[in-house]
Amino acid sequence: MRHRIIVLGAGYTGAVAAGRLAKRLRREDVAITLVNAEPDFVERVRLHQLATGQDLKARPFSKMFAGTGVELRLAKVTFVDVDRKTVAVTDANGAEELAYDTLVYALGSGWNTQHVPGTAEHADEIASRPGALRLRERLARLDARQTVVVVGGGLTGLEAATEIAEARPDLDVALAARSGLGDWLSPKGRAHLRKVFGTLGITVYEHAAVTSVEADRVTTADGKAIPAAVTVWTTGFAVHPIAKKTALEVTGTGQIVVDGTMRSVSHPDVYAIGDAAMVIGPGDKPLRMSCASGTPTAWQAADAIAARVTGTKLPNAPIRYFNQCISLGRKEGLIQYVTADDRAVPAVLTGRLAAVYKELVCKGAAWGVANPTLGLPTRRRATRDRAAAGSAVKAQA
Ligand SMILES: Cc1cc2nc3c(=O)[nH]c(=O)nc-3n(C[C@H](O)[C@H](O)[C@H](O)COP(=O)(O)OP(=O)(O)OC[C@H]3O[C@@H](n4cnc5c(N)ncnc54)[C@H](O)[C@@H]3O)c2cc1C
Repeated sequence: MRHRIIVLGAGYTGAVAAGRLAKRLRREDVAITLVNAEPDFVERVRLHQLATGQDLKARPFSKMFAGTGVELRLAKVTFVDVDRKTVAVTDANGAEELAYDTLVYALGSGWNTQHVPGTAEHADEIASRPGALRLRERLARLDARQTVVVVGGGLTGLEAATEIAEARPDLDVALAARSGLGDWLSPKGRAHLRKVFGTLGITVYEHAAVTSVEADRVTTADGKAIPAAVTVWTTGFAVHPIAKKTALEVTGTGQIVVDGTMRSVSHPDVYAIGDAAMVIGPGDKPLRMSCASGTPTAWQAADAIAARVTGTKLPNAPIRYFNQCISLGRKEGLIQYVTADDRAVPAVLTGRLAAVYKELVCKGAAWGVANPTLGLPTRRRATRDRAAAGSAVKAQA
């Protein structure tokens, strides 16, 4: 019987892991199933572009995985039973249970309202495609001089505010940040950010923690009301709730706790990657939810699974950061170089060159997903069970 590997979620990390596993393991030994709710790949890193009216390239999974040996299962995961080693899924034909020998959990994340009152009712989000499409419609309906407030001064907030301001110069765009604008960046990085925000006419409210959202305003901790015809909420991501309902060891926020090979510390048949995983990275700090650190977790998990089922040497490639690539609209960008543990160093790349660099990074990430088995060296080995069966047959002969 073939070793059954199920990968849950075909986002940036799940799709990459499934492709890499297909390249590492022999089809006669393993059955790799990739489960995803939607039929095509969502380029999450471009959802602020989608929200501002740009159309994203359609990337159907059926085309991407054709001929790779990965079986695609379009269905919604509703539960994972890690003791019985089964996954419950539903699709148009009803509910079904899939059994696995090894599970890769890569269900990603969504927006995080952080329980701020009024957020779920009145704010928009760009962490999901439906959210970005809803915001797109709302922005399209706004008249000149109406105000859009982006809440959150992290990377997603910076990208969203600049993208909206560039696409809709007739609107009044503001950003509310809990701390100072880009205060984790180098002095050059911060200065560039301020310059671009100034050029685009974005009003910045610094040290402004938003404590409530209403239909026409947000209110900050010091009682200030900021008018907002549309509020875009970008204060981090919340992981998919399914993991928390399982017997897996998870953090308080629901991320699956894994070791350096991305294997669950509580259930050795389960691996978690991308936003869903709590991975301790360089400097003993948890990796932040990003493609930049998520993609290496997919490589690491796939190589570790392949090594374990074939009985070969475990990989040990440390995961590190190189830069933070921030788009500031389509014409401007900021590449902040960082240490291995993600702290800004003085060097930055700015301007149009940085915008082009960021565009290439996004294209490269999507290419990697869209061509899951291309460009990888093939290292297919027999699984331990298969090799043992082969030796037994030879011995009998
Ligand atoms: C606007 C925006 C800009 C960003 N920019 C950057 C950036 O510049 N650089 C960077 O490094 N990171 C960026 N990120 C973060 C990055 O997109 C995420 O960290 C990354 O997508 C995580 O990958 P993942 O594979 O863990 O999850 P995802 O990419 O979210 O994939 C999860 C997959 O699981 C599927 N799924 C979810 N629930 C179910 C279910 N119940 N059943 C079946 N399938 C399901 C989803 O459809 C999806 O295909 C950005 C995010 C956003 C929202």
